[in-house]
Amino acid sequence: MNGSAHAEDMTDLLVVGGGVNGCGIARDAAGRGLSVTLAEMKDLGWATSSSSTKLFHGGLRYLEFFEFRLVREALEERETLLRAMPHISWPLRFVLPLHEGMRFDSETPASRLLSRLMPWMKGRRPSWMIRLGLFLYDHMGGRRILPATRSVDLRTDPAGAPLKPELTKAYEYSDCWVEDSRLVALNARDAAARGAEILTRTRVVSAEREDGGWTVTLDDAETGVRFTRRARMVVNAAGPWVAEVLRGALHSDSPAGVRLVRGSHVVTRRLFDHDRCYFFQGSDGRIIFAIPYETDFTLIGTTDAEHADPAEPPVCTEAERDYLLDFASRWFARPVTPEDVVWTYSGVRPLYDDGAKSATAATRDYVLHLDGTVGAPALNVFGGKITTYRRLAESALERICAALGADAGPWTAGAPLPGGDFPVDGVDALVAHLRERRPFLTERWARRLVRAYGTDAEAILGEAREAAGLGRDFGATLTEAEVTWLMDREWARSAEDVLWRRSKLGLRLSADEAEALDAWMAARRRDEAHAAE
Ligand SMILES: Cc1cc2nc3c(=O)[nH]c(=O)nc-3n(C[C@H](O)[C@H](O)[C@H](O)COP(=O)(O)OP(=O)(O)OC[C@H]3O[C@@H](n4cnc5c(N)ncnc54)[C@H](O)[C@@H]3O)c2cc1C
Repeated sequence: MNGSAHAEDMTDLLVVGGGVNGCGIARDAAGRGLSVTLAEMKDLGWATSSSSTKLFHGGLRYLEFFEFRLVREALEERETLLRAMPHISWPLRFVLPLHEGMRFDSETPASRLLSRLMPWMKGRRPSWMIRLGLFLYDHMGGRRILPATRSVDLRTDPAGAPLKPELTKAYEYSDCWVEDSRLVALNARDAAARGAEILTRTRVVSAEREDGGWTVTLDDAETGVRFTRRARMVVNAAGPWVAEVLRGALHSDSPAGVRLVRGSHVVTRRLFDHDRCYFFQGSDGRIIFAIPYETDFTLIGTTDAEHADPAEPPVCTEAERDYLLDFASRWFARPVTPEDVVWTYSGVRPLYDDGAKSATAATRDYVLHLDGTVGAPALNVFGGKITTYRRLAESALERICAALGADAGPWTAGAPLPGGDFPVDGVDALVAHLRERRPFLTERWARRLVRAYGTDAEAILGEAREAAGLGRDFGATLTEAEVTWLMDREWARSAEDVLWRRSKLGLRLSADEAEALDAWMAARRRDEAHAAE
């Protein structure tokens, strides 16, 4: 069915929120022929969806909470996603060193079961149980591309070199990386290519049920202009703000809520020189990752801290930073110190409030609430993970299509995201091809472009046969050609959008370079506005 079948000014769906869930739902809906408007109050993915650990993972840890449905769905999904986006996602191996100090979170069902059966373990996490978990992890989700778990002798394997010498044995298992904020932008691009209207810097202020539909009032943050849109259905994918939108803009008295759990990461100078990651287990039942990041850095995270108010910007506190550094220093031979830290970031998980006692134990599963009892329906999205965003969108569309009487089926499982139409092992070939015709491109520069844009890198570089052909050089291989692409195709408006969400070149540009980029982008937008008058 098509939205144009309805009144001219009535869109089928108005999606509140341009994070991974809102953009994933908008893409799926547009591909099924529904007319869609998505409103994001700031930049796409600026909130939780750019501050994750950036893993497509089953969540090994969730096995201890007996979250089998979530883990199986996420495991099955890893390879589907990897195939659809081999530029922004890639396989990773995780080295999990074994140590007798490893302990369970005492609240996990697995821990409670073990203390009943083997009380002498006193909360310790035995290595056979880890092996059992990894066996399930390997077999629950139908692996084809990703290699299986293996044992590692840390005394001889290079993965042991940066670790404390008393660590001798580890397991190594597979999961995948994903560039989270690029995932959001590419879903929005694909949605737009299929007809969706994507409005950024546009806040949904209120929505009223009128004449069998919604009248939604929106606020353009840049001009201050308020305007309305009519929609048959509203999807509330506002992440940490879902309850606020539900009870405020949508005037619902539903008691459903989210529990906000802050997670912080630190980025340090590179701590080891191989391409595998570490999965470190703590004596407090928690785990952290140390992951090779942006070639020259290491990413360490994350924490779990209650966060009261979504309006309060999450930041990595000194206590969280020290917690992560101390945790990592228990495993690395050389202590990781505040001097190693080059950047920190923090995000808020909008977890469905299932009454769990601890932040670590709260469910990571998603829950969809359809509020369709009076007049026009609304679908509210609670929780979820980056890994399950496509499946969440499919479940949401099942509910949406039923509510709107549309009969289009799922389609996203085999469909590549923009630039992702090449084989999973095709990155090297794309890099070589880009460089063949453009000898000025360094290996590192070409690889960065392929990892960000896949087959679209070719279009960004165009016919340029020398660097000058790409226009102004903003530093760290960021050129005018790339910035123009991001402004015209990916809704980038400011230097921050480009440097911290469409790329991570913020780690490399100086403050002066970032300022010059911002000024150039503002001037370009002014010129365009004048030309349009
Ligand atoms: C520290 C941390 C680590 C994580 N690691 C992983 C991981 O490794 N793997 C994984 O699978 N998942 C991970 N997650 C979970 C994952 O990041 C989130 O589940 C996911 O990003 C949530 O996306 P969302 O679209 O629901 O929310 P968001 O990305 O927060 O998007 C909601 C959007 O709604 C917008 N909005 C709100 N109100 C309005 C309004 N009134 N009008 C217009 N727009 C509005 C906001 O501006 C925001 O952009 C992690 C989360 C955290 C915090």
